[in-house]
Amino acid sequence: MFRKINLKAIRKRILAATIIVASVVGILQPITVTAAESAVTTTAAGFSENFIPTRSFYPSYLSKNASQKSTTVKKIWERLFYEEWKNPNWSKAQSKGGYYVNETTDYHSLGEGPKSFEGKNFAKDSKDFDAFLGQSLISNKEFLGELVGLPGYAPIESKLHPNETTNIQNLMKNIVYTKLTNPETYQYFAKAMAELTADGAYIGVNTVDKAGHVVKGSNNLLKDVSYNGQPFDIWMLSCLAFLYEGDGSETYLNDAQVAWLKSYQRYLYDDYVDNEANSLAKKYPSIYELIARSTDASNNYRGYGQEFFNYVVDSKQGGGAWLNQNTNINVAKLEQVDNLAEMFKFAIGWCGGFENENTCRDHASCIHKMTDYDRFAMALKNNTTALYYINANETVSATFGKSINDQNGYQYRYMVKHTRPLDNTNPNSLNIPMNNLMISKGNTRQTAKSWHSSFHGEGTGVAVAYAHLLTTLNLKDILPSESNPDGVSNPQFIIIGIYAEGEYACKMTKDPPTNGNTNSHSVSRKKDFKITCSEGIDPIGEVKFKDYETLGGVPTKNKKNVTKFYKFDVSGLTDVSMLEAAKIQISVGASSSADATNASGSSSPEGATYYTYARVDAMPTVFVESPINDCDINEHSYNGSIKWGENYSTATITYTCRKDNTLDKSHNMILTSPVITHDTIDGITTHKATGAYGETYRMVVNKDNRKPMEPAKVILNDSNASNYKDNDYSATVINPMGSGPNDIHYGYTHASVKLHNGSLHKGHIPLGVKKIEIYYTASEVLEELIFYVKSGNGKTIGYAYVTSNTGKVTINLSDTSDKALTDSYIDFDGSAYTKHELNDYWWNGQPAPSSAKLSVDKILMYF
Ligand SMILES: [Zn+2]
Ligand SMILES: [Zn+2]
Repeated sequence: MFRKINLKAIRKRILAATIIVASVVGILQPITVTAAESAVTTTAAGFSENFIPTRSFYPSYLSKNASQKSTTVKKIWERLFYEEWKNPNWSKAQSKGGYYVNETTDYHSLGEGPKSFEGKNFAKDSKDFDAFLGQSLISNKEFLGELVGLPGYAPIESKLHPNETTNIQNLMKNIVYTKLTNPETYQYFAKAMAELTADGAYIGVNTVDKAGHVVKGSNNLLKDVSYNGQPFDIWMLSCLAFLYEGDGSETYLNDAQVAWLKSYQRYLYDDYVDNEANSLAKKYPSIYELIARSTDASNNYRGYGQEFFNYVVDSKQGGGAWLNQNTNINVAKLEQVDNLAEMFKFAIGWCGGFENENTCRDHASCIHKMTDYDRFAMALKNNTTALYYINANETVSATFGKSINDQNGYQYRYMVKHTRPLDNTNPNSLNIPMNNLMISKGNTRQTAKSWHSSFHGEGTGVAVAYAHLLTTLNLKDILPSESNPDGVSNPQFIIIGIYAEGEYACKMTKDPPTNGNTNSHSVSRKKDFKITCSEGIDPIGEVKFKDYETLGGVPTKNKKNVTKFYKFDVSGLTDVSMLEAAKIQISVGASSSADATNASGSSSPEGATYYTYARVDAMPTVFVESPINDCDINEHSYNGSIKWGENYSTATITYTCRKDNTLDKSHNMILTSPVITHDTIDGITTHKATGAYGETYRMVVNKDNRKPMEPAKVILNDSNASNYKDNDYSATVINPMGSGPNDIHYGYTHASVKLHNGSLHKGHIPLGVKKIEIYYTASEVLEELIFYVKSGNGKTIGYAYVTSNTGKVTINLSDTSDKALTDSYIDFDGSAYTKHELNDYWWNGQPAPSSAKLSVDKILMYF
């Protein structure tokens, strides 16, 4: 019990502290408080600049008051940073350098209720205190100039130890520098800088000289102070560049800010090319980002276009805008395309009437079914500059297609829709010749020795030539690649031709013979034949190499040849890795011979000269048959299903094809960057995503089935709120006079309740809210109750201070934007007590026990 009372005493102190600060607006106003954004961020009359909380309460103070225009707020930030820097033990739980930490010193986090600052580094916090500092810099416009030490701004000084002033000034510069140059970590700060400089404050207006280099404007104040080797305008540039999207519709930056960023592009680009590892772009990712998206980059200035194109493609942002900046590329609305690889993947291949009617397989569909993606893809396919970038980029060329026959590519789908099948060919198959893929070894052409008989009489002679071939097709060579632009990604059949030729000649020395002799000649017999295939490849039909010619008689010269084709079914090789490893090998021999039998007799020839050769080889052209999927000719029959991401800000749409009968359902596609819009009317938000084919998906967020104009209701409970109720009960009689039986009898019972760091967490105030009514219970005496409505980045957007126990308070939010309401939350603090006294000389009995209650019960939100 002692502990509890003691705790309450501490709470009381904090409450007093917050009330003094809070009463800025509150005390002078009625219970129903109008608190538009602008009203709260200016210093209101009555603000106590003299009140500074003890240092253990700095975090709590800043979490509540960061968006006040206040010298005190600035001083507390400076003091906090100084203390943190001076106390190396800051982050150790036990000794916070003189700070004590317990539940009373909790600060109010961004919409997640109270939090301990134990272990927190305020200068390096990337969330709550990053947001709070950003708010203080926005509300106190001179504060940034003071922190970085701009001429004409009040310098930061050490009041306690003047010899430390230089160190403190460096510390403040370092903190700002660190945040500016790490915008991906300090995103709240970066967005605050965008807001702070929106009217040109600190950054001014630059111009660009004839060489394209920046000329800094005189009102570019940050150029006048340097840190770590560069003036602060460069560090601010590093920060703002992080927010630059370059897609023509910026989320955070206005036109003047974009122009300011762009004024540095040529200077930074040259710096990158000339100084590589030591350049600013190399050290600061957002500066690299800025030049990667520059017009210079798109136009291949100094030959760095491809590098920057690859970067933009990897980012999946602004790919279309980047290409359109090139002076040779001008595709209407291409800026809408963020992800070029995805765009090609979803382009169907219709021409929209671009091709001659006789070229389209289905001209009517080409005209009526063309999508935006088709239009973009076709325009880029026909643009040599765009192709140069696309073909050299792995990611985009994979969906554009590495060859015209690459079934995974857009250009394949376009080709099959614009290739009329020849008569008597299979309209659903392509037969693609490919040259010089066979790798052959062996003695493929052999000439036999001649044979000669120099005497009359019986004898036999023979000449035999034997040629041998070992020929191999590695299937990886038929795949699309730089060296095989006709490559095919899904072969079904491969046809390999083997060619054999034989020739022989025979010349009698006495010819023609008159009697008694016979000559016979033959060419080419099968010598050997063997086909070796990788697993999964089936030879089709006859797999022999037959004798191709036998001749008798005595022609003096003869030549025969034959070509035989072998067909292999490779459809069993279902994925690329199998194709890459597979091969077909044919081993074949062919012989050619000439022979003569000479009978005896005087008129028989004196002799004969025989000559023969044999040749066997693979035909130079291999034919690859590739089936055309019906979906590639007539488009898929897609069914899209959406999966929404967090806050409905992202979504993925998975398309499955109703016609897909493949084993692995390979027709599936996932769109990761649909265009998403949000529309809020009367607090009912409709999130809309537009899919790849213009189809839309809607999600209406209206959990209570509330009708428009009915208030939304939130009952506070342990899952959506913190510290929203407190109860106390006491029957203990307190006798302040130390009264005994003979004294004047006066005594009382007392119960007190506090709400410290009460909170309705983020996620419960819908967009479009114009007014909220907060219902509370207080018994019996309400001392005070303070409500802050805070935006998702910690700015106070609504406020009420209550001392009259009416059970209800209204806060007007009619001037508040949806942007401010996003992730907004409510903080509150309050106290109440009950005191039952008895003042009776004859004191009959005891004063009644006291019980007290203070709770925030429900909130109604009006639209
Ligand atoms: Zn067409
Ligand atoms: Zn399909």
